[in-house]
Amino acid sequence: MRLKLVEELQKMGISDQKVLDAIKKIPRHFFIDSTFEKHAYTNKAFPIASGQTISQPHTVANQTELLKCKTGDTVLEIGTGSGYQCAVLCEMGMKVHSIERQKELFDSAGPLLRELGYKPFLYYGDGYKGKEVFAPFDGVIVTCGAPFIPDALIDQLKVGGRLVIPVGPEGKQRMLTIDKVAEGELVEKNHGDAAFVPMLESRARD
Ligand code: SAH
Repeated sequence: MRLKLVEELQKMGISDQKVLDAIKKIPRHFFIDSTFEKHAYTNKAFPIASGQTISQPHTVANQTELLKCKTGDTVLEIGTGSGYQCAVLCEMGMKVHSIERQKELFDSAGPLLRELGYKPFLYYGDGYKGKEVFAPFDGVIVTCGAPFIPDALIDQLKVGGRLVIPVGPEGKQRMLTIDKVAEGELVEKNHGDAAFVPMLESRARD
């Protein structure tokens, strides 16, 4: 089933072999509710806890490909959610820091990722602030729809680094990449429409 999914993603234009290999390896059915287990390897998004969603495999593959990071790079993810995107980045050999504002999701992603052998740094907090203490990052990947580009995420990028972020109102964003080509010099590219749950301000109450 996983092989079929990878073939489907290739047909949809995903060509980065390392991304495809990671998707081939990771048991996505562990990251979703057992109700949807049978459909884990279809190109669909599913509801997870706290009213959030696990992104479609194509979205995960596309964002990962756009991130253009490699083994050993340090990456910041905003929106750990189920942990699936985080697993893809870890499987590709990146050092991953990931922030989640929903306590329930933060609590469940860590044990699952560790069980699968991944060792990301996970934080319960507000993604708008990034993670200054571990900056600068080679890449920053935002997996929720941001109403604007948070300054901290730009500040915490290395020169030569890239931010991948869906920007716009709920369910109607544009997938942008922002390259920090030099200190104070950014290059923005639009990669088309996207539909994400919103990036919410401040940390949720637990
Ligand atoms: N990468 C996830 C996608 C989850 S959906 C996966 O693979 O499953 C997006 C996630 O972003 C949700 O879990 C939501 O709670 C989280 N989120 C929304 N606003 C946030 C913020 N300000 N800081 C951190 N996480 C946030």
